[in-house]
Amino acid sequence: MVTGPLVEMLARNSKFAQSYQAPPGLVQMASTMRSTGAGVVVISCSDPRLNPYQILGIDPTLKATMVRNAGGRVFDAIRTLAVLQTIGAPGTIVVMHHTDCGMIHWHDADVKEALVEVAPEEKESIEASKFGEITSSLEESIREDIGILRASPLIKKSTQIVGVKYDISTGVLSVVDETKSEL
Ligand SMILES: [Zn+2]
Repeated sequence: MVTGPLVEMLARNSKFAQSYQAPPGLVQMASTMRSTGAGVVVISCSDPRLNPYQILGIDPTLKATMVRNAGGRVFDAIRTLAVLQTIGAPGTIVVMHHTDCGMIHWHDADVKEALVEVAPEEKESIEASKFGEITSSLEESIREDIGILRASPLIKKSTQIVGVKYDISTGVLSVVDETKSEL
């Protein structure tokens, strides 16, 4: 039986579905996307305070596809990005990291310790995994992720890859200069 906030969410879905209008079919949409290269994929953090649709003004006239995970880390999203590229051939991938991110506060050692408590039998694989901690400046973590995308054989070399930093205290999004190194 469903309990908690999901009860209300399911009730809201019933209302949502009453006036819902179905979008075009996927094959048709993908064909249009592939022919224009206009697709934009945004990889950003799962943080519920961050709403990439609002941040970028996404609406029916300006579309983007979202990939979200802890920290908005690329290594954790390569499979999805590669699949999306196969389907919609996006011309642009945006890597968005944000200030006050959980991955700045909780490092891999903290995550590992907590996960080993949950699954002690998986200690070895947990210890050997990385979980996306951000221990550098955001500019550096963004550049690191852009580098992973550029080096990936699964990502088309023609893809425009842009790193952006989101300041969660001001709402300001700024493009990170890829070439500038931190002093
Ligand atoms: Zn975050």
